[in-house]
Amino acid sequence: MFNKLKLIIIILFLIIILSPSVLAKDDLPAIIFVYDDGFQEDFELSFPIHAKYNIPAVVAVNSDYIGQKHWLKKKELLFLQAQGWEIANHGKKHTALILNSLTKNAKKNTKKIKVKNPFLIENSYEYVIYNTQTWVKEKIKIKKSGKKFIQLKAPLKNNYAKENTLIRLADSALQAEILESKRDLEKMGLIIDTFVFPYNGYYSHPLALVRKNYKAARSGYRHGEKFPKAFINYKPFSKYQLKAAVLETNLINEKDIFKLLKEVKEKNALLILYSHPHNKNFDLKRIEKIIKYALKNKIKISTFRELF
Ligand SMILES: [Zn+2]
Repeated sequence: MFNKLKLIIIILFLIIILSPSVLAKDDLPAIIFVYDDGFQEDFELSFPIHAKYNIPAVVAVNSDYIGQKHWLKKKELLFLQAQGWEIANHGKKHTALILNSLTKNAKKNTKKIKVKNPFLIENSYEYVIYNTQTWVKEKIKIKKSGKKFIQLKAPLKNNYAKENTLIRLADSALQAEILESKRDLEKMGLIIDTFVFPYNGYYSHPLALVRKNYKAARSGYRHGEKFPKAFINYKPFSKYQLKAAVLETNLINEKDIFKLLKEVKEKNALLILYSHPHNKNFDLKRIEKIIKYALKNKIKISTFRELF
């Protein structure tokens, strides 16, 4: 009786160990190619190279821009999905999900406030300006943004000191960027499991929302860590703060790319390589070289969906 039970346990154990889903989750070392922003070139330049070697990639798209001039069309995304590619959500309008700060005190009754990165403010959304010490806060609407400031639609109701003030997207805007965009993409017939943070930025609120609604999320390199660690995901993965390296020729040299690939192979890790085929510094030959290296060195070319 005891032996029979033992045998059953061993068989069950073997089934679990050898089942394809468990194997797939352990499919390392791996790289994931991600093409950001969903421009036509993903289809025209990148897809043929991937098709040549029969390997997938991920495109990270903004739901509002699909079908517009220069951007990918719905039917192209459905085609890529049918070819084993993954479509990831890159937000509704590519809005930076970050905290902004003041570069000068903002006074009550003013309509013009000086902020750190006005170009990362999406004027069509509502924001909240708040003091991190006193929790004085108010909603603000933006009329226009300049190089160093934003112009509000209505004057400020409170004073805000430069040192203790932050500006964040209103909750409705976070919902639109993270959830409505996902629903819009799913309505098109796309399967959306992964979020790619626009500008690679995030803070606690968007991160929490992404955790609740996705299986994984990607950012950029990890600030404060050194090469190659800052670019590579080692087990156990932080699957909502996945690190990645950009591939454009003006941002990384080939020597470093191959150092990263070597490290991934040696440490049985995951390397996410993102690029923008629409960008003038995108190099298709580089992509092909990496593919060949990965195939030769038994590094699996995967997608987020396959791994998470
Ligand atoms: Zn982007």
